[in-house]
Amino acid sequence: MNHARETRCIHGQAHRHGDAFRAVSYPIYQTAPFGHSAPGHNGSGFDYSRESNPTRAYLEETMTALEEGAVDTLAFSSGMAAVSACFELFRPGDHVICTDDLYGGVVRLIHTVCEKNGLTVDFVDTGAAKQIAAALRPNTRAIYLETPSNPMMHVSDIRACSALAHAQGALLIVDNTFLTPYFQNPFLLGADLVIHSGTKFLSGHNDTVCGFLCTSDAQLSARLRTVAKTTGAALSPFDSWLTLRGLKTLAVRMERHEQNARRLAAWLERQSFVKRVWYVGLESHPQYALNAAQSRGAGAMISFSVDSKETALRLLHGVKLITFAESLGGTESLLTYPALQTHPDVPQTVRDRLGITDRLLRLSAGLENADDLIADLSQAWEEHDAFRTV
Ligand SMILES: *Cc1c(COP(=O)(O)O)cnc(C)c1O
Repeated sequence: MNHARETRCIHGQAHRHGDAFRAVSYPIYQTAPFGHSAPGHNGSGFDYSRESNPTRAYLEETMTALEEGAVDTLAFSSGMAAVSACFELFRPGDHVICTDDLYGGVVRLIHTVCEKNGLTVDFVDTGAAKQIAAALRPNTRAIYLETPSNPMMHVSDIRACSALAHAQGALLIVDNTFLTPYFQNPFLLGADLVIHSGTKFLSGHNDTVCGFLCTSDAQLSARLRTVAKTTGAALSPFDSWLTLRGLKTLAVRMERHEQNARRLAAWLERQSFVKRVWYVGLESHPQYALNAAQSRGAGAMISFSVDSKETALRLLHGVKLITFAESLGGTESLLTYPALQTHPDVPQTVRDRLGITDRLLRLSAGLENADDLIADLSQAWEEHDAFRTV
Protein backbone atom coordinates (compact mmCIF):
# COMPACT_ATOMS: atom_id res chain seq x y z
CA MET A 1 0.00 0.00 0.00
CA ASN A 2 3.02 2.25 0.26
CA HIS A 3 3.68 2.23 -3.45
CA ALA A 4 4.14 5.54 -5.20
CA ARG A 5 1.20 7.28 -6.83
CA GLU A 6 2.16 6.25 -10.38
CA THR A 7 2.29 2.60 -9.32
CA ARG A 8 -1.04 2.80 -7.52
CA CYS A 9 -2.69 4.20 -10.70
CA ILE A 10 -1.83 0.89 -12.37
CA HIS A 11 -1.91 -1.65 -9.54
CA GLY A 12 -4.25 -0.06 -7.01
CA GLN A 13 -3.96 -1.79 -3.66
CA ALA A 14 -0.94 -4.06 -3.40
CA HIS A 15 -1.55 -7.76 -2.75
CA ARG A 16 -5.13 -7.87 -3.87
CA HIS A 17 -6.46 -11.04 -5.41
CA GLY A 18 -6.35 -11.32 -9.15
CA ASP A 19 -8.70 -13.28 -11.31
CA ALA A 20 -8.78 -17.08 -11.56
CA PHE A 21 -6.94 -17.09 -14.92
CA ARG A 22 -4.38 -14.45 -13.86
CA ALA A 23 -5.68 -12.05 -16.47
CA VAL A 24 -3.45 -8.97 -16.40
CA SER A 25 -6.32 -6.67 -17.33
CA TYR A 26 -9.08 -7.19 -14.76
CA PRO A 27 -12.10 -8.94 -16.38
CA ILE A 28 -15.48 -7.36 -17.07
CA TYR A 29 -18.01 -9.32 -15.00
CA GLN A 30 -21.00 -8.61 -17.20
CA THR A 31 -23.66 -10.21 -15.04
CA ALA A 32 -26.67 -8.98 -13.07
CA PRO A 33 -27.04 -11.75 -10.41
CA PHE A 34 -24.48 -14.09 -8.83
CA GLY A 35 -25.40 -17.67 -7.94
CA HIS A 36 -25.77 -18.80 -4.34
CA SER A 37 -24.12 -22.02 -3.16
CA ALA A 38 -26.66 -22.62 -0.37
CA PRO A 39 -29.50 -20.67 1.26
CA GLY A 40 -27.91 -17.63 2.90
CA HIS A 41 -24.52 -18.23 1.25
CA ASN A 42 -23.52 -16.46 -1.91
CA GLY A 43 -20.02 -17.96 -1.84
CA SER A 44 -18.43 -15.16 -3.85
CA GLY A 45 -19.44 -12.18 -1.71
CA PHE A 46 -21.55 -10.85 -4.58
CA ASP A 47 -25.36 -11.08 -4.98
CA TYR A 48 -26.55 -8.58 -7.53
CA SER A 49 -24.71 -5.97 -9.59
CA ARG A 50 -26.76 -2.97 -8.48
CA GLU A 51 -25.32 -3.51 -5.03
CA SER A 52 -21.84 -4.75 -5.95
CA ASN A 53 -19.93 -6.24 -8.86
CA PRO A 54 -16.31 -7.50 -8.99
CA THR A 55 -15.21 -5.18 -11.81
CA ARG A 56 -16.74 -2.18 -10.06
CA ALA A 57 -15.26 -3.32 -6.72
CA TYR A 58 -11.80 -3.53 -8.32
CA LEU A 59 -12.20 0.04 -9.61
CA GLU A 60 -13.43 1.23 -6.21
CA GLU A 61 -10.40 -0.32 -4.51
CA THR A 62 -8.10 1.36 -7.00
CA MET A 63 -9.69 4.74 -6.27
CA THR A 64 -9.42 4.12 -2.52
CA ALA A 65 -5.70 3.46 -3.01
CA LEU A 66 -5.30 6.68 -5.02
CA GLU A 67 -7.35 9.11 -2.92
CA GLU A 68 -5.00 9.13 0.08
CA GLY A 69 -6.75 8.94 3.42
CA ALA A 70 -9.81 7.19 1.93
CA VAL A 71 -11.13 3.99 3.52
CA ASP A 72 -13.75 3.28 0.86
CA THR A 73 -14.98 4.47 -2.54
CA LEU A 74 -18.36 4.10 -4.24
CA ALA A 75 -18.54 4.24 -8.04
CA PHE A 76 -21.65 5.78 -9.65
CA SER A 77 -23.05 6.05 -13.16
CA SER A 78 -22.14 9.77 -13.26
CA GLY A 79 -20.56 12.49 -11.18
CA MET A 80 -24.06 13.90 -10.62
CA ALA A 81 -25.26 10.52 -9.29
CA ALA A 82 -22.39 10.67 -6.77
CA VAL A 83 -23.31 14.23 -5.74
CA SER A 84 -27.00 13.25 -5.45
CA ALA A 85 -26.17 10.27 -3.22
CA CYS A 86 -24.05 12.55 -1.06
CA PHE A 87 -26.95 14.99 -0.55
CA GLU A 88 -29.11 12.05 0.62
CA LEU A 89 -27.13 12.23 3.87
CA PHE A 90 -29.16 15.32 4.85
CA ARG A 91 -32.67 15.70 6.23
CA PRO A 92 -35.37 18.36 5.87
CA GLY A 93 -34.37 21.42 7.91
CA ASP A 94 -30.63 20.84 7.47
CA HIS A 95 -28.42 23.62 6.15
CA VAL A 96 -25.46 23.34 3.78
CA ILE A 97 -22.91 25.99 2.75
CA CYS A 98 -21.61 25.70 -0.82
CA THR A 99 -18.96 27.41 -2.91
CA ASP A 100 -20.75 30.11 -4.94
CA ASP A 101 -18.85 29.15 -8.10
CA LEU A 102 -19.97 25.53 -8.52
CA TYR A 103 -20.43 23.11 -11.39
CA GLY A 104 -23.77 24.17 -12.94
CA GLY A 105 -25.35 20.74 -12.59
CA VAL A 106 -24.82 20.81 -8.82
CA VAL A 107 -26.50 24.23 -8.63
CA ARG A 108 -29.45 22.79 -10.58
CA LEU A 109 -29.58 19.72 -8.30
CA ILE A 110 -29.73 21.98 -5.25
CA HIS A 111 -32.48 24.24 -6.63
CA THR A 112 -34.64 21.53 -8.20
CA VAL A 113 -34.18 18.56 -5.84
CA CYS A 114 -32.46 19.40 -2.55
CA GLU A 115 -34.53 22.49 -1.74
CA LYS A 116 -37.75 20.61 -2.55
CA ASN A 117 -36.57 18.00 -0.02
CA GLY A 118 -36.31 20.66 2.68
CA LEU A 119 -32.61 21.50 2.58
CA THR A 120 -31.52 25.14 2.89
CA VAL A 121 -28.37 26.04 0.98
CA ASP A 122 -26.28 29.20 1.10
CA PHE A 123 -23.76 29.94 -1.62
CA VAL A 124 -20.73 31.89 -0.41
CA ASP A 125 -17.18 32.60 -1.51
CA THR A 126 -15.60 29.68 0.34
CA GLY A 127 -12.21 31.24 -0.40
CA ALA A 128 -13.12 33.81 2.29
CA ALA A 129 -13.26 32.18 5.75
CA LYS A 130 -15.20 35.17 7.07
CA GLN A 131 -18.04 34.52 4.63
CA ILE A 132 -18.25 30.89 5.76
CA ALA A 133 -18.18 31.88 9.43
CA ALA A 134 -20.99 34.37 8.83
CA ALA A 135 -23.12 31.75 7.03
CA LEU A 136 -22.73 28.99 9.66
CA ARG A 137 -25.90 28.14 11.59
CA PRO A 138 -26.62 25.65 14.37
CA ASN A 139 -28.22 23.35 11.77
CA THR A 140 -25.33 23.56 9.26
CA ARG A 141 -24.47 19.95 8.40
CA ALA A 142 -21.85 20.44 5.69
CA ILE A 143 -19.57 22.76 3.81
CA TYR A 144 -19.33 21.78 0.14
CA LEU A 145 -16.34 22.95 -1.89
CA GLU A 146 -14.96 22.83 -5.36
CA THR A 147 -11.33 23.86 -5.44
CA PRO A 148 -10.27 25.09 -7.93
CA SER A 149 -13.86 26.03 -8.72
CA ASN A 150 -15.69 25.80 -12.00
CA PRO A 151 -15.33 27.94 -14.07
CA MET A 152 -13.70 30.86 -12.21
CA MET A 153 -10.83 28.82 -10.69
CA HIS A 154 -11.31 30.19 -7.17
CA VAL A 155 -9.23 28.30 -4.63
CA SER A 156 -10.61 27.51 -1.17
CA ASP A 157 -8.36 26.74 1.78
CA ILE A 158 -9.30 23.12 2.51
CA ARG A 159 -7.60 23.08 5.94
CA ALA A 160 -9.35 26.28 7.06
CA CYS A 161 -12.73 25.06 5.79
CA SER A 162 -12.23 21.75 7.58
CA ALA A 163 -11.56 23.55 10.87
CA LEU A 164 -14.71 25.68 10.45
CA ALA A 165 -16.86 22.66 9.54
CA HIS A 166 -15.57 20.44 12.33
CA ALA A 167 -15.95 23.14 15.01
CA GLN A 168 -19.64 23.01 14.09
CA GLY A 169 -19.88 19.21 13.89
CA ALA A 170 -20.45 19.54 10.13
CA LEU A 171 -18.89 17.56 7.28
CA LEU A 172 -16.41 18.97 4.80
CA ILE A 173 -17.18 17.72 1.28
CA VAL A 174 -14.68 18.46 -1.50
CA ASP A 175 -15.23 17.99 -5.23
CA ASN A 176 -11.71 17.06 -6.38
CA THR A 177 -12.55 16.65 -10.08
CA PHE A 178 -10.24 19.36 -11.42
CA LEU A 179 -6.99 18.30 -9.73
CA THR A 180 -7.67 14.56 -9.24
CA PRO A 181 -5.95 12.51 -6.50
CA TYR A 182 -2.77 12.72 -8.55
CA PHE A 183 -2.39 16.41 -7.66
CA GLN A 184 -4.54 16.94 -4.55
CA ASN A 185 -5.64 14.77 -1.61
CA PRO A 186 -8.39 16.57 0.35
CA PHE A 187 -8.58 13.91 3.11
CA LEU A 188 -5.02 14.75 4.13
CA LEU A 189 -6.20 18.37 4.53
CA GLY A 190 -9.24 17.50 6.66
CA ALA A 191 -12.06 16.62 4.23
CA ASP A 192 -14.66 14.00 5.22
CA LEU A 193 -15.98 13.14 1.76
CA VAL A 194 -14.37 13.55 -1.64
CA ILE A 195 -16.39 13.65 -4.85
CA HIS A 196 -15.11 13.06 -8.38
CA SER A 197 -16.67 13.28 -11.77
CA GLY A 198 -14.73 10.30 -13.15
CA THR A 199 -15.99 11.37 -16.58
CA LYS A 200 -13.15 13.89 -16.64
CA PHE A 201 -9.46 13.20 -15.99
CA LEU A 202 -9.91 9.85 -14.21
CA SER A 203 -11.38 7.98 -17.16
CA GLY A 204 -9.66 10.61 -19.26
CA HIS A 205 -10.61 9.78 -22.85
CA ASN A 206 -13.89 11.66 -23.34
CA ASP A 207 -15.67 8.31 -23.69
CA THR A 208 -17.15 7.35 -20.29
CA VAL A 209 -19.52 8.99 -17.82
CA CYS A 210 -18.90 8.03 -14.19
CA GLY A 211 -18.60 9.41 -10.68
CA PHE A 212 -17.05 8.60 -7.30
CA LEU A 213 -17.71 9.24 -3.64
CA CYS A 214 -14.64 8.55 -1.49
CA THR A 215 -15.02 8.39 2.27
CA SER A 216 -12.55 8.46 5.16
CA ASP A 217 -14.99 7.02 7.69
CA ALA A 218 -16.43 3.50 7.75
CA GLN A 219 -19.78 4.56 9.26
CA LEU A 220 -20.32 7.26 6.66
CA SER A 221 -19.37 4.75 4.01
CA ALA A 222 -21.96 2.24 5.28
CA ARG A 223 -24.70 4.90 5.17
CA LEU A 224 -23.73 5.85 1.64
CA ARG A 225 -23.63 2.22 0.49
CA THR A 226 -27.22 1.83 1.69
CA VAL A 227 -28.20 4.96 -0.27
CA ALA A 228 -26.33 3.77 -3.36
CA LYS A 229 -27.79 0.26 -3.49
CA THR A 230 -31.27 1.64 -2.80
CA THR A 231 -31.28 4.50 -5.30
CA GLY A 232 -29.43 2.34 -7.81
CA ALA A 233 -27.16 4.62 -9.87
CA ALA A 234 -24.28 2.12 -9.88
CA LEU A 235 -21.53 2.19 -12.52
CA SER A 236 -21.87 -0.60 -15.10
CA PRO A 237 -19.21 -3.35 -15.34
CA PHE A 238 -18.06 -2.16 -18.77
CA ASP A 239 -17.80 1.50 -17.74
CA SER A 240 -15.96 0.36 -14.60
CA TRP A 241 -13.45 -1.41 -16.83
CA LEU A 242 -13.05 1.61 -19.11
CA THR A 243 -12.37 3.80 -16.09
CA LEU A 244 -9.84 1.29 -14.72
CA ARG A 245 -8.12 1.42 -18.08
CA GLY A 246 -8.10 5.21 -17.97
CA LEU A 247 -6.70 5.31 -14.44
CA LYS A 248 -3.66 3.26 -15.46
CA THR A 249 -2.29 6.27 -17.37
CA LEU A 250 -3.54 8.99 -14.99
CA ALA A 251 -0.05 9.93 -13.81
CA VAL A 252 1.49 10.43 -17.25
CA ARG A 253 -1.64 12.11 -18.57
CA MET A 254 -1.87 14.61 -15.69
CA GLU A 255 1.78 15.60 -16.14
CA ARG A 256 1.31 16.26 -19.86
CA HIS A 257 -2.10 17.92 -19.38
CA GLU A 258 -0.45 20.35 -17.00
CA GLN A 259 2.55 21.02 -19.28
CA ASN A 260 0.18 21.85 -22.11
CA ALA A 261 -2.00 24.03 -19.87
CA ARG A 262 1.05 26.00 -18.70
CA ARG A 263 2.07 26.67 -22.32
CA LEU A 264 -1.46 27.67 -23.32
CA ALA A 265 -2.06 29.88 -20.27
CA ALA A 266 1.22 31.73 -20.79
CA TRP A 267 0.44 32.19 -24.49
CA LEU A 268 -3.11 33.41 -23.80
CA GLU A 269 -1.81 35.99 -21.32
CA ARG A 270 0.22 37.58 -24.13
CA GLN A 271 -2.62 37.87 -26.67
CA SER A 272 -4.18 41.26 -27.38
CA PHE A 273 -7.72 39.82 -27.61
CA VAL A 274 -7.44 38.18 -24.17
CA LYS A 275 -8.42 40.36 -21.23
CA ARG A 276 -7.69 38.03 -18.37
CA VAL A 277 -6.56 34.44 -17.76
CA TRP A 278 -7.52 32.37 -14.72
CA TYR A 279 -5.18 29.41 -14.30
CA VAL A 280 -4.01 28.35 -10.84
CA GLY A 281 -0.56 27.57 -12.26
CA LEU A 282 0.06 31.21 -13.22
CA GLU A 283 1.74 33.39 -10.64
CA SER A 284 -0.76 36.09 -11.62
CA HIS A 285 -3.56 33.96 -10.16
CA PRO A 286 -4.59 35.62 -6.86
CA GLN A 287 -4.50 32.30 -4.99
CA TYR A 288 -1.47 30.78 -6.71
CA ALA A 289 0.32 30.35 -3.36
CA LEU A 290 -2.67 28.76 -1.61
CA ASN A 291 -3.14 26.23 -4.40
CA ALA A 292 0.57 25.43 -4.35
CA ALA A 293 0.43 24.95 -0.57
CA GLN A 294 -2.37 22.39 -0.65
CA SER A 295 -1.73 20.53 -3.91
CA ARG A 296 1.11 19.20 -6.08
CA GLY A 297 -0.04 20.77 -9.32
CA ALA A 298 -2.25 23.16 -11.19
CA GLY A 299 -4.01 20.79 -13.58
CA ALA A 300 -5.29 21.57 -17.03
CA MET A 301 -8.26 23.91 -16.63
CA ILE A 302 -7.96 27.48 -17.90
CA SER A 303 -10.67 30.12 -18.06
CA PHE A 304 -10.10 33.36 -19.96
CA SER A 305 -12.09 36.42 -20.87
CA VAL A 306 -11.80 38.04 -24.29
CA ASP A 307 -12.46 41.58 -25.50
CA SER A 308 -15.99 41.01 -26.85
CA LYS A 309 -18.77 38.48 -27.19
CA GLU A 310 -18.00 38.48 -30.92
CA THR A 311 -14.42 37.34 -30.24
CA ALA A 312 -15.71 34.58 -27.95
CA LEU A 313 -18.12 33.31 -30.62
CA ARG A 314 -15.50 33.51 -33.37
CA LEU A 315 -13.03 31.46 -31.33
CA LEU A 316 -15.72 28.88 -30.59
CA HIS A 317 -16.65 28.65 -34.27
CA GLY A 318 -13.10 28.98 -35.58
CA VAL A 319 -11.26 26.24 -33.71
CA LYS A 320 -10.63 23.16 -35.84
CA LEU A 321 -8.42 20.87 -33.76
CA ILE A 322 -9.92 21.90 -30.44
CA THR A 323 -13.57 20.85 -30.10
CA PHE A 324 -16.28 23.31 -29.05
CA ALA A 325 -17.95 21.11 -26.44
CA GLU A 326 -18.75 20.93 -22.76
CA SER A 327 -16.87 18.55 -20.47
CA LEU A 328 -13.17 18.49 -19.73
CA GLY A 329 -10.27 16.34 -18.69
CA GLY A 330 -9.91 14.09 -21.73
CA THR A 331 -7.24 13.43 -24.32
CA GLU A 332 -8.94 15.87 -26.74
CA SER A 333 -8.78 19.59 -25.92
CA LEU A 334 -12.20 21.16 -25.45
CA LEU A 335 -13.30 24.79 -25.54
CA THR A 336 -16.47 25.57 -23.58
CA TYR A 337 -18.80 28.56 -23.35
CA PRO A 338 -19.83 28.39 -19.67
CA ALA A 339 -22.59 31.01 -19.88
CA LEU A 340 -24.51 28.87 -22.40
CA GLN A 341 -23.20 25.33 -21.90
CA THR A 342 -22.36 24.47 -18.32
CA HIS A 343 -23.84 27.32 -16.28
CA PRO A 344 -27.14 28.49 -17.91
CA ASP A 345 -29.03 27.35 -14.80
CA VAL A 346 -27.03 29.64 -12.55
CA PRO A 347 -29.13 32.81 -12.07
CA GLN A 348 -27.97 35.72 -14.26
CA THR A 349 -27.25 37.97 -11.26
CA VAL A 350 -24.95 35.33 -9.78
CA ARG A 351 -23.23 34.77 -13.14
CA ASP A 352 -22.62 38.53 -13.48
CA ARG A 353 -21.20 38.76 -9.97
CA LEU A 354 -18.85 35.81 -10.53
CA GLY A 355 -17.73 36.93 -13.99
CA ILE A 356 -19.42 34.12 -15.98
CA THR A 357 -20.13 36.54 -18.84
CA ASP A 358 -20.65 36.12 -22.58
CA ARG A 359 -16.93 36.97 -22.95
CA LEU A 360 -15.72 34.07 -20.79
CA LEU A 361 -14.33 30.85 -22.29
CA ARG A 362 -13.08 27.72 -20.56
CA LEU A 363 -10.35 25.57 -22.05
CA SER A 364 -9.53 22.02 -21.06
CA ALA A 365 -5.99 21.41 -22.27
CA GLY A 366 -5.82 17.95 -23.83
CA LEU A 367 -2.83 15.84 -24.76
CA GLU A 368 -2.20 17.08 -28.29
CA ASN A 369 1.07 18.84 -29.15
CA ALA A 370 0.95 22.27 -27.46
CA ASP A 371 2.22 24.07 -30.58
CA ASP A 372 -0.66 22.59 -32.57
CA LEU A 373 -3.14 23.81 -29.95
CA ILE A 374 -1.65 27.31 -29.98
CA ALA A 375 -1.70 27.34 -33.80
CA ASP A 376 -5.35 26.33 -33.73
CA LEU A 377 -6.35 29.16 -31.37
CA SER A 378 -4.24 31.57 -33.47
CA GLN A 379 -5.92 30.66 -36.72
CA ALA A 380 -9.36 30.93 -35.09
CA TRP A 381 -8.45 34.44 -33.91
CA GLU A 382 -6.91 35.46 -37.27
CA GLU A 383 -10.06 34.38 -39.06
CA HIS A 384 -11.85 36.58 -36.61
CA ASP A 385 -9.65 39.53 -37.58
CA ALA A 386 -10.26 38.92 -41.27
CA PHE A 387 -13.97 38.71 -40.55
CA ARG A 388 -13.91 42.06 -38.78
CA THR A 389 -12.04 43.94 -41.49
CA VAL A 390 -14.29 42.76 -44.35
C1 LIG B 1 -18.57 17.28 -14.70
C2 LIG B 1 -18.54 17.68 -13.28
C3 LIG B 1 -19.49 17.19 -12.38
C4 LIG B 1 -20.62 16.28 -12.81
O1 LIG B 1 -20.15 15.06 -13.27
P1 LIG B 1 -20.84 14.17 -14.43
O2 LIG B 1 -19.92 13.03 -14.55
O3 LIG B 1 -20.91 15.03 -15.65
O4 LIG B 1 -22.19 13.81 -13.95
C5 LIG B 1 -19.37 17.56 -11.05
N1 LIG B 1 -18.38 18.39 -10.63
C6 LIG B 1 -17.46 18.89 -11.49
C7 LIG B 1 -16.40 19.80 -10.98
C8 LIG B 1 -17.52 18.55 -12.83
O5 LIG B 1 -16.61 19.06 -13.68
